[in-house]
Amino acid sequence: MRIGVMGGTFDPIHHGHLVAASEVAHEFSLDTVIFVPTGRPWQKAHRGVSEAEDRYLMTVVATAADPRFTVSRVDVDRPGPTYTADTLRDLSVALGPDAELFFITGADALADILGWDRTDEVVALAHLIGVTRPGHALVDPGFAPGRVTLIEVPALAISSSDVRRRVADGAPISYLVPAGVESYIAKRALYREESGDISSQGI
Ligand code: ATP
Ligand code: MG
Repeated sequence: MRIGVMGGTFDPIHHGHLVAASEVAHEFSLDTVIFVPTGRPWQKAHRGVSEAEDRYLMTVVATAADPRFTVSRVDVDRPGPTYTADTLRDLSVALGPDAELFFITGADALADILGWDRTDEVVALAHLIGVTRPGHALVDPGFAPGRVTLIEVPALAISSSDVRRRVADGAPISYLVPAGVESYIAKRALYREESGDISSQGI
């Protein structure tokens, strides 16, 4: 089994994530892509990240119709900050030795990779697939020969930050996120306040 792993905060998931996963699934003949929403992201400790359960459910809603896509709770359910090495280890244990893992990452996240925790473990557990993202240079981090592949995917200049800002400003997010995610955001009144602790809006 060839398994893609798409990690992210997904606050919220948008069409940039979905196109990247779909394109990599096609190019690398993957059997499935597992979307893995983070628990508390260590890089984003400076801002209030929406509750894990909201981010998880939006990811489920966004991927439900695609038979190639699935969502894992490994990071949401593991206490403490999320590290990619732990994500890949937990998935690899759960999936068994026949699973070959492909970790999908956008150009911005790939550029940060040397700052990730236990990078050697990450590249031992998965092939890294770096995908293009508008506004970011796609550069091979220059280690682990043969373990990193860079590919071009259709350019969508969408970010979760911009989606959150748009909701806070009353600007449209239609066609940037799947319709079900737009409805979920409205129903849960997410992102209405740009500043402050977003998670405190939970009921
Ligand atoms: P934020 O603005 O909150 O950082 P984001 O849009 O960057 O959100 P993340 O959840 O941080 O989304 O990203 C998860 C993964 O998806 C990362 O590897 C990121 O590089 C990649 N990614 C996000 N948006 C795109 C896009 N438009 N095109 C290609 N890759 C993307
Ligand atoms: Mg990001």
